[in-house]
Amino acid sequence: MIKPTEAESLRPEQLLSWGYGQFPESFAIVTSFQKEGMILVHMAAGISKNIRILTLDTGRLPEQTFAMMETVRDRYGFAVEVLAPNANEVSNLMTLHGPNLFRKNVAARKLCCEVRKVRPLALQMKTLGAYAVGLRRGQSDSRAEVAKAEIENGRWKLSPLAGWSEAEVDDYIAVNDVPLHPLYAAGYRTIGCACCTRASQAGESARAGRWWWEQEGDKECGLHVTPKGELKRELDVLLDEVLTNAHGS
Ligand code: SF4
Repeated sequence: MIKPTEAESLRPEQLLSWGYGQFPESFAIVTSFQKEGMILVHMAAGISKNIRILTLDTGRLPEQTFAMMETVRDRYGFAVEVLAPNANEVSNLMTLHGPNLFRKNVAARKLCCEVRKVRPLALQMKTLGAYAVGLRRGQSDSRAEVAKAEIENGRWKLSPLAGWSEAEVDDYIAVNDVPLHPLYAAGYRTIGCACCTRASQAGESARAGRWWWEQEGDKECGLHVTPKGELKRELDVLLDEVLTNAHGS
């Protein structure tokens, strides 16, 4: 085992090799096929075709992301594992709050992400010993401290490209002819669900293309007082309601 601090000196391919070597059955790259994730897929193909490639179909992805899944299968020979949210939870989410609840307020948007993304991924994470993602410190202020390797909830989280700049990413893609998600050509700098991501405007940060209708200052969920007088996050109250209806408990 390496120490998280030792990982800082490893090149991305070395870190991926280490993760796969330590957890050959339970190491995965988790990606939505953006540039950084595709670099990891490309590097993984040079290490072993047995490295697992996991992605999440939230039910609201753009058509072009499915095309990328096909590209990864055809070009690299990986069987992309597609995770999906719980069908009952999604059904109740939309019945209770409507299909486009994310436009209503921040708590509703976070509820949608919780049901469609966070919960199915958390379930799958329990089966992994280690996983790699394409986070970079330069992507946003909130990612400025991303470690190349850390233990999170009992498993290794690797971010082999943590120290790379956007220029290094673009250079690697050009030199190695890594397939690009088609929405980059349409001006997108971040790619997620079709309804919640748009092309970036001139001068905007990459992350500005997500949930652009929310005001920066409004992005926290409000608090809610339950009938028992407890203070709960509005998101947790809404989630309890969806889960109770979905699982009948
Ligand atoms: Fe829902 Fe939008 Fe989050 Fe996708 S990004 S899970 S559609 S709120």
